[in-house]
Amino acid sequence: METFDRTREVEGIREIEETDEIEKMQEIDVLVVGGGPAGLAAAVKLYEKGITSVLIVEREKTMGGILRQCIHDGFGLTRFKETLSGPEYAQRFIDAVEELHIPYITNAAVTEITEDKVVTVVTRGGIRKWRARAVILTMGCRERTRGVLGIPGERPTGVFTAGVAQAYINLYNRMPGKEVVILGSGDIGMIMARRMTLEGAHVQAVFEILPIPSGLPRNIQQCLNDYDIPLYLSHTVTEITGKSRLESVTVSEVDESLKPIPGTEKVYPCDTLILSVGLIPENELSLDASVVLDGRTKGAVVDENFQTSQEGIFAAGNVLHVHDLVDFVSMEAEKLAEGAARYVCDGKLQACRIPVTADENINHTIPQKVSGTQDVKLAMRVRKQFKDVTIVVRQNGETIASRKMKKAIPAEMIQIPVKAERMKRDGALEVCVEC
Ligand SMILES: Cc1cc2nc3c(=O)[nH]c(=O)nc-3n(C[C@H](O)[C@H](O)[C@H](O)COP(=O)(O)OP(=O)(O)OC[C@H]3O[C@@H](n4cnc5c(N)ncnc54)[C@H](O)[C@@H]3O)c2cc1C
Repeated sequence: METFDRTREVEGIREIEETDEIEKMQEIDVLVVGGGPAGLAAAVKLYEKGITSVLIVEREKTMGGILRQCIHDGFGLTRFKETLSGPEYAQRFIDAVEELHIPYITNAAVTEITEDKVVTVVTRGGIRKWRARAVILTMGCRERTRGVLGIPGERPTGVFTAGVAQAYINLYNRMPGKEVVILGSGDIGMIMARRMTLEGAHVQAVFEILPIPSGLPRNIQQCLNDYDIPLYLSHTVTEITGKSRLESVTVSEVDESLKPIPGTEKVYPCDTLILSVGLIPENELSLDASVVLDGRTKGAVVDENFQTSQEGIFAAGNVLHVHDLVDFVSMEAEKLAEGAARYVCDGKLQACRIPVTADENINHTIPQKVSGTQDVKLAMRVRKQFKDVTIVVRQNGETIASRKMKKAIPAEMIQIPVKAERMKRDGALEVCVEC
């Protein structure tokens, strides 16, 4: 297998003719798309399992994914039992990649994956193709924008998604603005409320269209309450005003069906509107490869090995479902790697024919299919807030796993382990909320 001189790759010195490369298409065991926390953890685990014909392809200049710009702490409490900043957390895995000499290329974007796992990569030196025995999809997600929300009004500068504003401050040392309104109580928006305050901006308020916050309670306390930033639930931005730069936003209360209530409009003069209104898994490449997606997660339908509907194509991390904590991303990718390693060694994995279904109170479950022969950890989110509930997993009418919770909220991912010895070989696993 070819190894890469990384310095030369980063500087883009490799000069490769496309036709030349297509003729010499490389064979590889596993190609990992994306060098964020999921991709890094999967590659390291594959190596530990003895699969060393691996390549990580990352489109940014450096690996680490979205964590490169998350300089706040709070990462790693579950995985490493200590609190780390995003870059520190990512560095642990980058160090492992370096120590194990796992090949990677940066400044290289995967542009196509075919059903038979031919992967096209645009590098600074030209277009290259690999035929992989297994492909691991770890492309993360992107933020929903103003265009997706369709907020009426003018189109001035000063409207940023929270992640873009975070990149401006933390990666490029640029301040997006001074007088700030935040729409959406997602974690990134709340983290940016604190960050902009610490950098000298005035954050007037966070407005959330839903009657409950979208982000984690710890972020409400540490990022809003501690800085006296008010959070208004059941409110949304209904107009954006400003010729070249944002001048004000109009905010309205919304009714139970989330429609603005006429007469409740209030104008907030501001130069910056930050949107923290949700993330969308980046699955265009998955669709290229005819991977079946789940309408609820917007990620792939996977089995207990994180194998998608396409044999040998696996998915984990935020491209599969939006996670609350990165620790769970890494652990999920490690589990994926165990399955992918078996797939590479044996050429196939055990069929998973038992579907996992959920009642109307559960938004989704991951995985969506199991074999009934392996211990699994079902990950899920509830659709609304519950107090003193039990989440129950049943098969053929019998409870095979459950978890009692004082509080279950949509912002927090819930995990329930199910032991192989409790499962039968047929009969759907049904997940439900019991109050
Ligand atoms: C602003 C913000 C704050 C957060 N704060 C916390 C926190 O406090 N605590 C916590 O635990 N978690 C936090 N998270 C969540 C955590 O960062 C994510 O769960 C984690 O980064 C997801 O990892 P990933 O590898 O799935 O995706 P990402 O980190 O998004 O990595 C995906 C990688 O794939 C690459 N890629 C995508 N497409 C291609 C392609 N076609 N070709 C090549 N490469 C590609 C991307 O460039 C990227 O590097 C935060 C997230 C954000 C956005």
